[in-house]
Amino acid sequence: MEREHLIKPLLNYRYPTVQYGKGSYLYDENGKAYLDASSGAVTAGIGHGTAEVIEAMHEQAQKVSFVYRSQFTSEPAERLAKKLSDLAPGGGYWSFFVNSGSEATETAMKIAIQHWQEKGQSSKYKVLSRRVSYHGITLGALSMSGHVLRRRRFIPLLEEFPLVAPPYCYRCPMGKTPSECGTACADDLESAVKRIGAEHIAAFIAEPVIGAAGGAIVPPEGYYRKIKEICERYEILFIADEVMTGIGRTGAMFGMEHWGVEPDLIALGKGMSAGYTPMAATLVKDHVMEPILHGSKVVMAGHTYSANPQSAAVSLAVLEYIEKNGLVQAAEEKGRELLSRLMELAGRYAIIGDVRGKGLLLAVEFVADRGSKEPFPASLGLTARVTDKAFEKGLLLYPAAGGVDGAGDAVIVAPPFIISEEEMDELVRMFDETMVEVMREVT
Ligand code: PLP
Repeated sequence: MEREHLIKPLLNYRYPTVQYGKGSYLYDENGKAYLDASSGAVTAGIGHGTAEVIEAMHEQAQKVSFVYRSQFTSEPAERLAKKLSDLAPGGGYWSFFVNSGSEATETAMKIAIQHWQEKGQSSKYKVLSRRVSYHGITLGALSMSGHVLRRRRFIPLLEEFPLVAPPYCYRCPMGKTPSECGTACADDLESAVKRIGAEHIAAFIAEPVIGAAGGAIVPPEGYYRKIKEICERYEILFIADEVMTGIGRTGAMFGMEHWGVEPDLIALGKGMSAGYTPMAATLVKDHVMEPILHGSKVVMAGHTYSANPQSAAVSLAVLEYIEKNGLVQAAEEKGRELLSRLMELAGRYAIIGDVRGKGLLLAVEFVADRGSKEPFPASLGLTARVTDKAFEKGLLLYPAAGGVDGAGDAVIVAPPFIISEEEMDELVRMFDETMVEVMREVT
């Protein structure tokens, strides 16, 4: 076998080579078609090969592709920052552009800490998050993530930021049911704040709908309003990690719109450039920027490629495409239909414990026993069995850790917002066939 040079996720597996993408499909070197029901890593929201985005990319490349942000600003970056501020909940946001979701959450953390420093409160540096959460792979972002598997090797290098209860109704951490819980999981944030002392806490970070760490976990009604109220009462900044949920994915431009909450900072990535180029952003409300504007006047963060004009032009074209084609509403409507079709299907397979999600961010959680919700043993590799079987059929699904502390199985179903009725039929049909085969293996 010829030696390889590219480090891929699994080093003992031969990946197919992609040749091209068009709409909801990707095609490999043998001409095999894959229905991209995960939008890659919940990224390609507008589908592949969109002519308008490619044209915008070409047009900007002819002008200038790169400038260093310490030397020049650019028209696309300025326009994109204004556009995001107009779209974000309540408006009045500044944008700091970065290249990945991990950088976006980590920059949010740094700006939150700097905000308090500039106000003379340097002891406020801890960032609280939830036990079931994923905010990125860099050390700062991992420090505020509860994703057991991704943290494990680096524990000695991570800050021990406190983790609070997740709003995970299927496996309620407070042992309650949604009808009588009184959003007790949100109260757990207040208990943690009292224990640690608000004078040590800069921010609380949360994904509006929990993605990779749990699989499209939607909080109970009233949860985020209570969270925001607790944050305000104790002077803690609220960071919404909208890397997965932002830009239409949940059927609203920003996930937090569902709960009428205006975050102090927002992390964006993935869908904001829909995979056409690396692009991410940290959005910062005016009141968070204020002490920095009147203080040091320098946000201590940045990367060589920050605010890259090429990426900004692409992101603007993606946003325009979404707006022009009503894709946020499409995500809401198609998501509702797909959720009900997956629920229908769940009735036939005893290993499906829960089907949930919002818009086109949906997930199916698997259990060994529906009554007790006991997960499958990790050694069975249930999630990989499902995603591998689906992949063989030409259906792309996104693996998520289900359950608490990563001890469970779930897959995310998150097709592009442009998915057609026929493609949705195809998705459900292939998912159904996948289930038949997995059931045969594990029961
Ligand atoms: N935050 C959330 C909610 C995510 O889902 C992810 C990626 O899956 C990240 C942050 C990290 O983004 P990236 O992989 O672009 O660094």
